Order: sequence, then structure tokens, then C-alpha cells
Amino acid sequence: MQVPGNHHSRLSATVVLLSVMLTIALATLGWWAAVKIDDRSIARETKALRTGLAELLDRIPHEQDSSVVWTEAVVNVRAGNDQWIAENLAEWLSDYFGHDRVYLIDPDGEPIRAVERGQRVSLLAYERDRAAIGPMIAELRRKMAVASVENADDATDALVGTGMEDVRTLSPDATGIVSVRPILPSDDTLVQAIGDVFLHVSVVELDQDTAAAIGQKFDVADLRFAQGAVLDSERIANPVLDSAGRIVGFFHWLPDEPAYQLILETAPLLAGTALFLVLAGTLLFLRLQSTTERLETTQAHATFLAYHDSLTRLPNRAMFEHKLSQSLGDARRNNSQVVLHCIDLDHFKSVNDTFGHAAGDALLLQVSHRLGSLVGEGDLVARLGGDEFAIIQPNVSDMRDALGLAQSVVSALEQSFDIDGHEIEVSTSVGLMSSDGHVEMEDLLRQADLALYEAKGGGRNRYMLYAGELGTLLRDRLELESELREALKSRQGLELVYQPIYCIRENRILGAEALVRWQHPKRGRLSPDMFIKLAEERGLINQLGHWVLQEACRFAVKSQLPWIAVNVSPIQFRDERFAERVFGTLDATGLDAARLEIEVTEGLLLQNSPEVQHTLRVLRGRGIRVALDDFGTGYSSISYLRTYGVDKLKIDQSFTAQLGQDEEIDSIVRSIIDLGRAMKMQLTAEGVETESQRSILIAMGCDQLQGYLLSRPVSDQVMLDLLSADAQREDNVLGRQAV
Ligand code: C2E
Ligand code: MG
Ligand code: MG
Repeated sequence: MQVPGNHHSRLSATVVLLSVMLTIALATLGWWAAVKIDDRSIARETKALRTGLAELLDRIPHEQDSSVVWTEAVVNVRAGNDQWIAENLAEWLSDYFGHDRVYLIDPDGEPIRAVERGQRVSLLAYERDRAAIGPMIAELRRKMAVASVENADDATDALVGTGMEDVRTLSPDATGIVSVRPILPSDDTLVQAIGDVFLHVSVVELDQDTAAAIGQKFDVADLRFAQGAVLDSERIANPVLDSAGRIVGFFHWLPDEPAYQLILETAPLLAGTALFLVLAGTLLFLRLQSTTERLETTQAHATFLAYHDSLTRLPNRAMFEHKLSQSLGDARRNNSQVVLHCIDLDHFKSVNDTFGHAAGDALLLQVSHRLGSLVGEGDLVARLGGDEFAIIQPNVSDMRDALGLAQSVVSALEQSFDIDGHEIEVSTSVGLMSSDGHVEMEDLLRQADLALYEAKGGGRNRYMLYAGELGTLLRDRLELESELREALKSRQGLELVYQPIYCIRENRILGAEALVRWQHPKRGRLSPDMFIKLAEERGLINQLGHWVLQEACRFAVKSQLPWIAVNVSPIQFRDERFAERVFGTLDATGLDAARLEIEVTEGLLLQNSPEVQHTLRVLRGRGIRVALDDFGTGYSSISYLRTYGVDKLKIDQSFTAQLGQDEEIDSIVRSIIDLGRAMKMQLTAEGVETESQRSILIAMGCDQLQGYLLSRPVSDQVMLDLLSADAQREDNVLGRQAV
């Protein structure tokens, strides 16, 4: 029996795992997207810086061109007109456009003017920048020489717009943009030889101010310039290259990283949400788990209830059958024996009737405890219903163990029970059967049941082992019992025959004995020997006896019969309502009490019970006669004949049969007759079959005779015929006498 449930916890664990994985996947995706967004932003900033630098490289020569392509400039430079140079070319340009340094270089490559931040300084200042500027001048002069050759006729015009500009390392701690432009006439009024051209040099340092200005323009945060590599995890560095592709320094700045910023800004909210989700998930998981557990418990409980008896908590019939078939299978495989005990409490119903159902339940509970304490490990005690229990005893190697257990069950339940202060005693019958597994469960159950039935029939409070042959006999009896019940219920098949009893001296019918017959559907006509005992054992005798009494009385009423004798079982007689019932029947049928004779056996009187004595007295008080049937076969004693007082003795047919053959028998019969006469009792001899028996009995003084010699038991119609023939003869005799 599989109890489901693990499935649920596995499911909830899977759900939780899936949600965790989903959360991780979403977070990863989010992070990846953020990194991508921020990378793009950095790429945009890098591109902006390049543009900024390019703009600078473009702007400086333009600013120089506003002054260097000018005829007056050529004239004044050549003339060395300091005033003019200061106001229009060197200091002015530095001051106006913010070029850090401005140099004027003569055709020999030597400075003739040096300006720093708008102030004229010593020419020595040029030395600081010479290494950077020198090669550019040389390169420009070479370009100019080439251009002048190519455009020999108008060389100066062709040179307008020519120049060199680049980013250069100026010194170990300075980098700058250097722009060199030729100073050229703006018209034809002046002739300028290429070799004599003065040069104008502007230097704008890539210092923090320059970087800040670019940063501001292109919206790059905290942009700075450094010559060396930048090791700062928070900053992005991007190399600055000169025209030859050499690294001359780095721009570095705080990247924008909008996604990262967004994450940072929303971090508290995100963390809160995540925490909430985790908490909610955990809570959900716990709820789910506890619900699952509750469900499992409920399910386990339901399964328990389905397979257990609610009162005793013992396995019920369903579980019992499951285990029994399992045990039979095991026995088959292991070559072992399994023993089944069927247990039934005797007279449990009367406990229920007398003390109430609560007491009955309490008793069953105590019985279940006692049974539980008797069995060994591996044995199973089950309650099959009502007061029926069963034990499955698997792996029995010695049958004596099984019989021992059965005996201990009987002994244990024989001990009185204390129920609410009442000392209650019950007894138990056990039927048991063993099997090696090669039998159907139903057959084993039936066999153990038959053994139980036999134990009950054998007087209860005992155990009985099923014995094969006995079993078929018992099965027959079981079948007969249910058929008798059916016959009693349907009133089909049961009938009475009547055997007349004669007064032989006067040769007339004195009365008749009613004898029951059963017209069995399959077995034919059954004599009472075949079913009276069964009816007594199976509790059917009261019903049967009552029916016989009624039928007999009805018949007597409609016949000329002086009296009718009816056989009554001691069991009927012991019922305290028996006399009442007889009177009821007499009233119902209208039969005079004096016309009824009741036959009881000696055994009844032997019980010496005040109740029996009372019933006898009451019956006789109403005028009903009581005959002692089969007299002489039991432990007849004169004393109890005195005590009880009966009206008639019926000498048993075993005596009659031996009359005239055995002197001892003859004398016994004679003394019975003498005794009866002395005690003023009537005497009937049963089983008279021969003339000699009749003569002997008459000679001994017994005149009531019953037997085949006179008449066999006959049907009611024949009985009526016999009676009318008798009356006819009587009339004839009387008529003759009268004549
Ligand atoms: P019983 O009361 O002693 O009845 C007399 C039995 O002797 C009857 O047998 C009867 O048929 C038989 N019988 C009569 N004359 C002769 C004869 O000459 N020779 C021989 N061999 N037998 C003779 P039956 O009808 O088979 O009844 C057997 C017993 O069954 C009766 O013995 C009686 O004890 C019992 N019985 C019959 N009917 C009833 C009944 O309605 N209730 C009760 N409780 N017992 C009954
Ligand atoms: Mg009789
Ligand atoms: Mg008899």
C-alpha cells in the first residue's frame, strides 16, 4: 500500500528551484544589458574626445592664419618692428586665442621672438620646445621647398594654408599641440622667396584646463590628461596618438555608465524587492510544504481508516484479506506453513443486550488488547466485524505452536473482564487451519470457519482444528442449517405426522403423538433424528417447536382426538417464557388444556433446576399433562419423579424390543410399571411391534400401547380416517350392547 506524498514535496522543491533559476537568469540578463549600455556610452565618450582633439588641431592653425597670411606681417617681421609684431602677431595672438606659447622663427630656424601667455619672454624659452618643434619645422620647410618647385611661378600663393600641426611630447611633464605656419604675403605687392619665409609657431599645452574645456564641451566627466598610463579602476583611459601613431599620453575620465548609475540609484529598491521576493518565496515554500505535509497526514489517516477498524484500531477485513493472500504467497515461495485462526466470542450478544453497546464496545477493545498481547512478531490480529476476530500466523514450522496459540486465546478470554466495575465473563471459540499456500484464500477461510463452527457445536469455549472429512460433514450441516432456516421462514416442506396411542384392553385410540417430518427438496423426507439436534444447536428449536405445537393443536381441535402429545426439547423448556407460549397457543387455537400432553425427556429433570420445576408446575396447574419420554434410558430416579411430578411414563422402545427375551429386561419393565402405578401415573409402552410384546405388556398391567403393530405414524387425513373408523366401531359396539 503506497502512501503518496513525496511527489508533492518534490514538486514544490522544483517550483522553488525554477523560480530561483529564473531570478538568476533575469539578473544576469539585466547585468549583461547594463554592461552593454555602459560600454556604448564609453565608446560614445571616446569618440567625442577624438573629435575634441581633432577640433583643436583644426582650430589652432585657423587662428594663426588670421594673422600670418598678411603682407604687412611679412613686412613688419622682416623689419623687426617690435611694436607691430606685439600688437598684431605674437603677444596679441597668444593673448587673444589663449595659445600658451608663440614663437617667430627666422629662415635659419632660430627664434626671433618668444611669447608665453601673452607676455614676451627671453628667446631661451624656446629651448624647452625645440626638440618637439625642430623636426616639424624641418618637415614644413621640406614640404615648402617641394611646393615651390611644383609651383615655380606663384609659389607663395600655393603655400597659403600649408602648415604642420600635431600632438607632441614637449617635455617629460608636458604634452601639447604644436602648429607651425609660414608667414606669407596676402597680395602680390610683395615678393617673398620661399627660402626666406619666417615661421609662426603656436603651442597649446594639453594641460588640465584644455582637457576640462574639451570635457565640458562634450559632456565627459572630470576629463584629464596624463602622459603615463592611468591605473584607476573607476576611470576610463584612452590613448592620445600623434600623426605617426605614437602614444603621447592618455585622456582619462569618469565614465558615464548610465545603466550602472541606474542600478546604483535603484539598488535599495531592487534589493528590497529581491528581499521581498525571497521572503515571499520562502514563505510560499514553507506554506506549500506544510500544506503538503498536512495533506500527507490526512492521506495517511484516510489510508489508515480504510484498512483499520475504528473501534479497536486493529486491521480490518480488507487489510486482513490483503495480508492473508500475501502470507499464502510467502508460504508458497518459502515452503512454509501459514495458520489462520478464526475467533468468535460466545454469547457476546447477551453482553450487548444486558449491559448496553458501550459496554460491548469496551469489551471488544479489551479483547483486542488481550489478543494483541498473545501473538508473536509477524502475526496479525484483525477484527473482521462484530465479535469476530482472526489471527494470521505465518511461518509456522511446528503445528503445536499454532495449537498453543489457539489454546492461549481461549484461556486468555476465559478470564473475566472488568467493564465499568462489572465483572463480565465470556468464552471464546477458535477454529484454525493451516496451509502451505497451495490453497485459495477463500477455501482456507471457509475451512477455518468450519472448524470454528465445529468448536461452537462442540460446546464452545474451545478450539478446533479443521479436519478434512469432518469438513464435508460440517459443510453438509451448514447447508442443512440454512435450508432449515429457509423452511421455517417459508413454512414449506415441514409437516406433522401422527402416531396413535391405543388402549388395548378397550381396543380404541386414546390419543396420538405428533411427529415432525421435513420434506427436503433434495434429500427427500427427513426424520427428526436428522435435524432436531441441529435445530437445537443452531438456535432454531424454539421456532420449530412452536410451529409443531401450533400445528398439533390446530389438528387436535378439528379432530375427535381425545388428546394430542407433542415432543418438547429441553432447550424449549428452559426458556422462561415457554409456559406462556404454550398457553398462548392453546388460546389461539382454542384447544382445551386437558387435551394436550407434553413429552419431555428424563435429561430435563436431571438438571434439577427451580425454573424447570416451576414451569412444570404451571403447565400441570392448567391441566396440561406431562409425559416422561424414553423412560429408563437415562438416570431415572424415584426421587426426582417425586420432586417434579409427571403424569405419564413412556417406556422406551429399547426395552419393549427385548421383552420376553431377557429376564432382566422383563423385570425392569415390570418394576417401571409397578412404580408408575404406585405413583398414580399413566404408562405407555413405545415401539410395540409384535403380538408377544403386546401380551407381555398387557399381562404386566400396561394398557397404553404405541407401535408399528398398531399403527405407523400417519398423515393427518389418515389419522382422521382412523378416528372415524374407531368411532364407527364404538357406535356399533354400543348399538349391539343396546340391542
Ligand atoms: P419419540 O418421541 O420417542 O417418538 C417415537 C419415535 O418412535 C418416532 O420416531 C416413531 O416413528 C418411532 N416409532 C413408533 N413406533 C415404532 C415401532 O414400532 N418401531 C420402531 N422402530 N419405531 C417406532 P420418529 O418420528 O423418527 O421420531 C424420533 C424422535 O424424534 C422422537 O422420539 C422424538 O424424540 C423426536 N421428535 C419427533 N418429533 C419431534 C418434535 O416435533 N419435537 C421434538 N422436540 N422432537 C421430536
Ligand atoms: Mg415422543
Ligand atoms: Mg420415545
